[in-house]
Amino acid sequence: MTPEQFRQHGHEVVDWIADYWTRIGSFPVRAQVSPGDVRAALPERAPEQGEPFAGVLADLDRVVLPGITHWQHPGFFGYFPANTSGPSVLGDLVSAGLGVQGMSWVTSPAATELEQHVLDWFAELLGLPGSFRSSGTGGGVVQDSSSGANLVALLAALHRASGGATVRQGVQPERATVYVSSETHSSMEKAVRIAGLGTDAVRIVEVDGDLAMNPGALAARLERDVARGYRPVLVCATVGSTSTTAVDPLAAIGPVCQKYGVWLHVDAAYAGVSAVAPELRALQDGVDWADSYTTDAHKWLLTGFDATLFWVADRAALTGALAILPDYLRNAATDAGAVVDYRDWQIELGRRFRALKLWFVLRWYGAEGLRAHVRGHVALAQELAGWAAADERFDVVAPHPLSLVCLKPRWPEGVDADVATMTLLDRLNDGGEVFLTHTTVRGQAVLRVAIGAPATTRAHVERVWALLVEGHDWLAADFAEQAAARTAEREQAAQREPESQPEPEEADSPA
Ligand SMILES: *Cc1c(COP(=O)(O)O)cnc(C)c1O
Repeated sequence: MTPEQFRQHGHEVVDWIADYWTRIGSFPVRAQVSPGDVRAALPERAPEQGEPFAGVLADLDRVVLPGITHWQHPGFFGYFPANTSGPSVLGDLVSAGLGVQGMSWVTSPAATELEQHVLDWFAELLGLPGSFRSSGTGGGVVQDSSSGANLVALLAALHRASGGATVRQGVQPERATVYVSSETHSSMEKAVRIAGLGTDAVRIVEVDGDLAMNPGALAARLERDVARGYRPVLVCATVGSTSTTAVDPLAAIGPVCQKYGVWLHVDAAYAGVSAVAPELRALQDGVDWADSYTTDAHKWLLTGFDATLFWVADRAALTGALAILPDYLRNAATDAGAVVDYRDWQIELGRRFRALKLWFVLRWYGAEGLRAHVRGHVALAQELAGWAAADERFDVVAPHPLSLVCLKPRWPEGVDADVATMTLLDRLNDGGEVFLTHTTVRGQAVLRVAIGAPATTRAHVERVWALLVEGHDWLAADFAEQAAARTAEREQAAQREPESQPEPEEADSPA
């Protein structure tokens, strides 16, 4: 493809994306395909000859779109959002066009220095501790995901806890312990497995009524483990849990971690970016205690996956765990210690120039635009929670400080509430206008309404509420009808009873 051909087809692709965004509201939110449908629409063999570009574009509509769940749809309320935006896509496009490997400073100095600078900007915009700045003892880096960041944090914590011994001797799985709660993201347990500790190392600290980690229970567990000869390595505190956006109290957890010399990692994957709005920062009071911190610009901050913002307070622990310098990567800048080589801050060697899309997003929206984005969704969520709290058909089951509201429908006596709730969820999602997911709170099925798609407006939140109420009424009436039918059947059966006595059992007749 020559640059001139690229120019032409590039314009066609940008048009295709712009058209997609324009008509996105007309698609059913959730993909309508069954397993195997997408592959069945593809040829069995790879093309032997190159094909005209128009054919590829046509197949985006024919093959790909039917198999897409439209995460940017204004009716998308599932999981957590996965924002993208024009500036993010364009920043990614430039990154793809440059095609650089930013593994070391010397391989493209701009890739490293823009990333350092953007992460410093974000540390300030989110009110994070000074130690996280590149001018302090720590620094920030873009990771592929918070799952990856959780693993990297654990490796740094293991390095520090062992006084650097893990590099040569590996981990001591029979000694090391890691502290989470029942609400901690599953990626932390996965990190424990990947690090070679095994899940026996995981201690699940009790939560309070709001599903937040109980600092007293954490202290008690640490004390017991230390007394028994274990070596506590890391506490993972969550700001905004995936299930309900529960917030572990950092200000109380921090001093406990310090007392036992344990690494405090804060997983704020979804909620952390909300701190662009100063009035929402109280949720992470005590963040100054954190040794490391992760939040995803690719969830709620208008930046396409992957764009995890990860900071450490002490970069030496991180690079101590991960730095390795083969001869073929040696260079004067690295040898002089004058630069940061981000390959030492992550699992992989190679890395994309992801700071570009963050830079594009920041410059397009400004901090003010990002604040308005977050505040808009938080306000909508508070409205929705207000409607639900005032309605006897629904309970709001958990605190909703941000833009996720967890709703438990109330059902008539005698109805299996979990089955009914999941039936309501299926009905809503089958309808195609909205898409929600569920979670379990205190053992019961609950609907999650996560507001956060950039295109979602008040009208869409009103609509999801109307559909919830409508669906609830329809199902409740259906259940009442079924119950009445069952009662009638029982009564009829009771009337028939005298004639329909079972025959006395026949004795086995000998053959
Ligand atoms: C979404 C989420 C993760 C995982 O984030 P990825 O960036 O998708 O890996 C981790 N922790 C919490 C609390 C999350 O909500």
